[in-house]
Amino acid sequence: MFKEIDTSLVEKKVTELLLKANYDIGEEFLGNLYKQSENESNELAKLVLNQLIDNDKIARSEKIPMCQDTGMAVIFVEVGQDVHLIGKNLYDAINDGVRNAYIGGYLRKSVVDDPLFSRINTKDNTPAIIHTDIVPGDEVRITVAPKGFGSENMSAVKMLKPADGVNGVKDFVIETVKKAGPNPCPPIIVGVGIGGTFEKVTYLAKKALTREIGVHNEDKRYAELEQELIDSINTLDIGPAGLGGKTTALSVNIEFFPTHIAGLPVAVNICCHAYRHKYGYVL
Ligand code: SF4
Repeated sequence: MFKEIDTSLVEKKVTELLLKANYDIGEEFLGNLYKQSENESNELAKLVLNQLIDNDKIARSEKIPMCQDTGMAVIFVEVGQDVHLIGKNLYDAINDGVRNAYIGGYLRKSVVDDPLFSRINTKDNTPAIIHTDIVPGDEVRITVAPKGFGSENMSAVKMLKPADGVNGVKDFVIETVKKAGPNPCPPIIVGVGIGGTFEKVTYLAKKALTREIGVHNEDKRYAELEQELIDSINTLDIGPAGLGGKTTALSVNIEFFPTHIAGLPVAVNICCHAYRHKYGYVL
C-alpha cells in the first residue's frame, strides 16, 4: 500500500525548518552553554560564552539569524519506500523551500553559481546540498543543517592505513582541530566519519553533525573514543572565539561504516557554535 505525499508539503517543511534552524539554537544547546560557562575558570572564555548565550536568546526572541552567515542549506531527506511522491520534482520542491526561507526570512544568500570562474551569487541561496536515503515506512523525514563556511573550510579527509589504527585516527582529529584554531568560531562540534570509501566518509562526518549535543555513539567503543577526543581537544587552550580556555569543543560525534581491508578513511567536519540543525516529518 502506497501513501501519496504531495511535494508541496516537503517544500513548506523545508522552509519552516530552515527558518527555525537559523533563529532558534534550541534549549538543549543553550543548557550546554550555561553548563560550560559555569565550569570555565578562564574569565575571558566565560565572558564569550555568556555573550553567545545572549546572542542566541536574542535571535530566538526577535526571530533574527544567530549568525550573519546563514550557511549553505544542507538537507537530508529520508523517503519511506511506501511513499509515492506526487506534484513537482522532489529536488525542485526542496530548492523552492530553500528559496522561500532565504528570501522570505531575510537570511543571507551565500551561494555562487560556479565555484571557479563566474562566482555569481544565485541570490536565493539555491541550490541546496541534498542527501537522499530510501528507508522503510510511509513517511518523509527531513533534516536541515545550514552550514557556515568559516567552519566548513576547516574540514579535512585522510585515507589512513589500517595499521595507523585508533592512534592514527586520534592524531588526525586533534591535528585538524589544532590547525583550525580560532577559524571555525569555537566552541565547536567535531563531526568524525570513519570507514566506507572516500566519498562515504565525508558524508558520515557531515551526518554526525546532525546529532543532538551530549548524545554519544551507541557503540561503547566509539562512545569512549568520542569522550577521549573531547577531553584532549579541550586541553588545546583554543577556547571560545579562540581566546583561550578549556571550552574548545562541546562535542565529538563519530559515525562509522564498514570499509575495505586495505584502508581506514577518516574525515573531520567541524561545526561552529551556530550548531544549526532541525528535523521534521511530512506524513
Ligand atoms: S563559522 Fe559559524 S559562527 Fe562563524 S561566521 Fe560562519 S556560521 Fe557564523
